[in-house]
Amino acid sequence: MIISVSGLRGIAGEDLTDELIFKYTHAFGNFCNNGKVVVGRDTRPSGEMVKRSCFKGLLSAGCEVVDLGILPTPSILFSTKELRADGGISITASHNPIEWNGLKFVNSKGLFLNKKEYEKFERMVKETKVFPVCLKATKSIGKPVDRHIKKILSLEYLDIPTLKKRRFKVVIDTCNGAGYEIGPKLLQKLGCEVIRMNCNPFEPFPRPPEPNLENLMALKRRVIKENADVGFGLDPDGDRLAVCSKKDFPLGEEYTVVLAASLILGKKKGCVVTNLSTTKLIDDVATEKGASVIRTRVGEANVVEAILKNKAIIGGEGNGGVILPDVHLTRDASTGMALILQYILERGESIENILDKFPKYYIVKKKISIKTDRVLRLGRLKEKFGGAEINEEDGLKFSFKDSWVHIRKSGTEPIMRIIAEAKTEKEAQSLIKQVQSYLNLAPRD
Ligand code: MG
Repeated sequence: MIISVSGLRGIAGEDLTDELIFKYTHAFGNFCNNGKVVVGRDTRPSGEMVKRSCFKGLLSAGCEVVDLGILPTPSILFSTKELRADGGISITASHNPIEWNGLKFVNSKGLFLNKKEYEKFERMVKETKVFPVCLKATKSIGKPVDRHIKKILSLEYLDIPTLKKRRFKVVIDTCNGAGYEIGPKLLQKLGCEVIRMNCNPFEPFPRPPEPNLENLMALKRRVIKENADVGFGLDPDGDRLAVCSKKDFPLGEEYTVVLAASLILGKKKGCVVTNLSTTKLIDDVATEKGASVIRTRVGEANVVEAILKNKAIIGGEGNGGVILPDVHLTRDASTGMALILQYILERGESIENILDKFPKYYIVKKKISIKTDRVLRLGRLKEKFGGAEINEEDGLKFSFKDSWVHIRKSGTEPIMRIIAEAKTEKEAQSLIKQVQSYLNLAPRD
């Protein structure tokens, strides 16, 4: 069970029990001043049960509960603000395996709770002892995906008549997740010929849910077979997006935010915000357009906070999360797809050619189990990489001229992440190996 500023995440029924959900959602109802709370979920089989536990907690706090049904996380955040709710809950374990589930808590602005809000909420969880019974009806308003789509289509950056004429052939793989409806629907509105893959919300996840290149090989084969212009792979709650082409490219989901930022930076003046673990390619793209890149700790809330503070025009994370403030301040795969199609249209060449022209970097991501807890040894790495520029804001990041390695504890899983990027794959692997051998841990995968 992981309880953090990102919310709750655990194995449904084992760690994430009815009792625990009841306790947290009752306190969340109080946190929202017993007002209106919207609740949506992804397609996990435990989703409906977890939702009922949430309703129980919220209703017992006297809240007006609005059932959004199956909906991607970005649409839930968007709807919280649109429907003027006092709070929202997204029931999802994002890219974790199917037996997991979790709750992400959203404030009245439609943003994930920041650290300060979360601390207040946690105090309220601890203080809650009485659970009165309050009977109020739950409202179901249907799926508000259309409003979200409308907002995306209203973006000034999109040339919808020309996109419709271009009629991109797109394969979309939603992992049978919550993006099953909004994804294909949006693509159709953008004039695409849509080939649906894994868009059945009643079927289990057909692949490991994290949208990285190795989990999207079937999508890639389909893109080749159909001779499609591009393939899009989503995670189960529809906030992360990977771009798939007919050729082998080493970056996968890392390209998403780079492609989206390339479009926006070409149209507007302003800075980009991304986390410390995101590809250096974003710096290259920004430098070319005369824009600056602001780096934050990993985690959507940190990126969003810096976007607000610096009035950035776009932001996101290298895990495939594009944040466009013009739509809403959250990672959104649907917004990402629209921006990337517009970018391909404007470039007037294939995605393969576009990617081929970017500077080449190889990124390697490793997960290490922290059962043996060698975290304390981390600090000693500073001696090893003496010549590097060191950033200690979020774990440790060592930056060299054309490469970097970042080591940090995951906020959502009991693991440590080591991410390295360099001009060659060998060099990136070598950085990972150096860290691993120093920490004397075996790789988890
Ligand atoms: Mg997700």
